[in-house]
Amino acid sequence: EKPKITSDSHKSVDFTKVDINLLPTVVLIGRPNVGKSALFNRLIRRREALVYNTPTAHVTRDIREGIAKLSDLRFRVLDSAGLEAEASSGSVLRRTAEMTGNVLARCQFALFLIDARDGLQPMDLDVGKWLRKHAPGIKPIVVMNKSESLDDGAGSLGAAAGEAHMLGFGDPIALSAETGLGMTELYEALKPLLEDHMLRVINDAGYQGESSIEEEESKLPLQLAIVGRPNVGKSTLLNTLLQEDRVLVGPEAGLTRDSVRAQFQYRDRTIYLVDTAGWLERTKQDKGPASLSIMQSRKNLMRAHVVALVLDAEEIAKSRRSMKHSEVVIARRAVEEGRGLVVIVNKMDLLKGKVHENVVKAVPEEVQTVLPQVTGIPVIFVSALEGRGRTPLMRQVISTYEKWCSRLPTARLNRWLRKVMSRHSWKDNAGQPKIKYFTQVKARPPTFVAFVSGKAKLSDTDLRFLTNSLKEDFDLGGIPVRIMQRAVV
Ligand code: GDP
Ligand code: GDP
Repeated sequence: EKPKITSDSHKSVDFTKVDINLLPTVVLIGRPNVGKSALFNRLIRRREALVYNTPTAHVTRDIREGIAKLSDLRFRVLDSAGLEAEASSGSVLRRTAEMTGNVLARCQFALFLIDARDGLQPMDLDVGKWLRKHAPGIKPIVVMNKSESLDDGAGSLGAAAGEAHMLGFGDPIALSAETGLGMTELYEALKPLLEDHMLRVINDAGYQGESSIEEEESKLPLQLAIVGRPNVGKSTLLNTLLQEDRVLVGPEAGLTRDSVRAQFQYRDRTIYLVDTAGWLERTKQDKGPASLSIMQSRKNLMRAHVVALVLDAEEIAKSRRSMKHSEVVIARRAVEEGRGLVVIVNKMDLLKGKVHENVVKAVPEEVQTVLPQVTGIPVIFVSALEGRGRTPLMRQVISTYEKWCSRLPTARLNRWLRKVMSRHSWKDNAGQPKIKYFTQVKARPPTFVAFVSGKAKLSDTDLRFLTNSLKEDFDLGGIPVRIMQRAVV
């Protein structure tokens, strides 16, 4: 039986605390030049935008995604600018139909931009028709952009609003992406919608939108990224993994060079190797700055399900330190992005006797120390040069992937919760709030919500204790498990 969210907690959705993977997604649509990019930039401010290509049958266009900040609201915003560029050639309906699966399926809300100065154009009506057809579930908020120059005294703003009504999506908001005019109205229109959405996601583990996307995604093959500093042996390892099955995928039309992937078969599974630094494509002679671009390859890291970080055993033995700073940064980033992490120590053939033993013992401990957020990160020792380690490595990658996708039934979680709360380490710590109910709201990575009585909140220590217990009891080592909390009566 699920607890009801009180109206009190309804008012208190704190978007700044919501896991970014659970934030609602708002897409900006409209014909070219209405100001989608301008509004996108205003919403994400100076934060980093993620640019990725959506390869479709005929076109590949950039879509930008960022986390929008509008007062206390947070949401994902998608700028579909590139996709709509085709509209100028009059083929908006046909072309954009191709992106519906990719983009609209991920969005719950839309801002439909029109140009207040131009008034309603035929192409705006086309965009409206297209939206109704492909996303009947989304009722967009119409935004009359470039309103700063319109004078309501002269009635021009009212006239524009009258036209905007003809789209059939209700009252428009007069806004200026350039000056910021109307952002408060936008906030007021979005807030109740986003809050309701958030509560549904949190309260309803079987939320349809989210899970159907997951289902879609889970049909995709495992995406593996092999990352590491230059010369640790990534290319050599790659050849070991690919053996003779190597199939280079891409560059497909419009795919950027660094998203070239290789596909191979391990037992009954297809695995995609996401090329994070362009090394897949490069020859030995061409080992230039691209090897240094690992840090810029965040978007590819985000595309991977499992990240395998390769370390050099010989360097570890020499420096007596398992991970260099840049390696710690990559590992942390993978974890922050919610990827499954596997550490690979390569070149084990170069170590003998005591040194070999020491490295095998020290690395797992040190990895744990530098990444306390994720317990039980698996460490695999291989020699890519001798072609040893393929099987244990692939077994671990698949196991990490499966844990990353796992869904724990609510009944089992709540039995577990009662057991955990009766443990001494929990009970002896007086004054924690009582957790009434515990449920998984999302997989990939596993994300949970703890429903907490009353006004008290779980402390960071409490959350860490719960996370670690969950990982131990359900064997989720190396997986970035997330727990959020919600107040209930
Ligand atoms: P998109 O094609 O829909 O992404 O449109 P852009 O964001 O690229 O904007 C198209 C043009 O309109 C650019 O020259 C912008 O500077 C301009 N623009 C965008 N927003 C506003 C606005 O609020 N007021 C005015 N006057 N111009 C704007
Ligand atoms: P990348 O820059 O990470 O792609 O590294 P490479 O795969 O090009 O390897 C760098 C150097 O390390 C090459 O000279 C490889 O032959 C060598 N190497 C790679 N793996 C091993 C290994 O398992 N053992 C030894 N002894 N050398 C290796």
